[in-house]
Amino acid sequence: MADELTREFIEGLARLGVPDQYAQQFERYREELLDWNTRINLTAITDPEEVLVKHFLDSLSLLLAYDQPRTRLLDIGSGAGFPGLALKIVRPEWQVTLLEATNKKVLFLRHMVEALHLKDIEVMHGRAEELGHTRGYRAAFDMVTARAVAAIPVLLEYCAPYCHVHGRIILPKKGELTTELAQGKRAAAQVRAVFEADIPVELPGLADGRRLLVWKQRDLCPTQFPRSGAAMAKKPLG
Ligand code: SAM
Repeated sequence: MADELTREFIEGLARLGVPDQYAQQFERYREELLDWNTRINLTAITDPEEVLVKHFLDSLSLLLAYDQPRTRLLDIGSGAGFPGLALKIVRPEWQVTLLEATNKKVLFLRHMVEALHLKDIEVMHGRAEELGHTRGYRAAFDMVTARAVAAIPVLLEYCAPYCHVHGRIILPKKGELTTELAQGKRAAAQVRAVFEADIPVELPGLADGRRLLVWKQRDLCPTQFPRSGAAMAKKPLG
């Protein structure tokens, strides 16, 4: 671990207060990710140093917005484990659920959970629209997140049903968001969440307009949400 981007990763961990004792687990994660990526489509980022910063450190940046003990976390559309699996590595006491719709990615996630000997983590194969109506998952999480899955109003409809009252929804985003954020604020009112904070991600290698949009669940989400994917596409919230 000697080159520039690797140094950025180590520096980033230090800025987040994460000890570098986890570096070996991230090495293993990266190795498996790039190996599986030759057979199934997990990531467009194939440069090993970029994986450290653009996937791992970017996932860990959520700690800038939320870092509580004994958290129950849900990551919707986790893909190859971003951000949920990366967060689980550095917060082993958290209880984590990774939800993913694509079976091949689910197989990769389950493989990683075993390879890294992680406990208190489950990988669910399914869709946010469906699991959100299931007992044990509805209004059951302290923190819900989703990275690169959909626009803000859709994400809020996915996430809010899983959040207990006063839980947080953290949406990592970048780029121009004025219209999307305004729609998101209207959508939030419908799912009983409220916009709480817009936190810039200023970490090595990531200072490119990334931000964390934080929403607080102020009341239980009405039971009609999440609607079916078709209904959401036909009439998006906001
Ligand atoms: N979060 C990962 C990341 O940032 O690298 C993956 C992002 S990828 C662009 C979007 C992922 O969300 C895909 O793996 C897709 O299968 C999953 N996905 C999309 N809609 C979903 C839904 N409604 N429920 C569960 N997973 C979903």
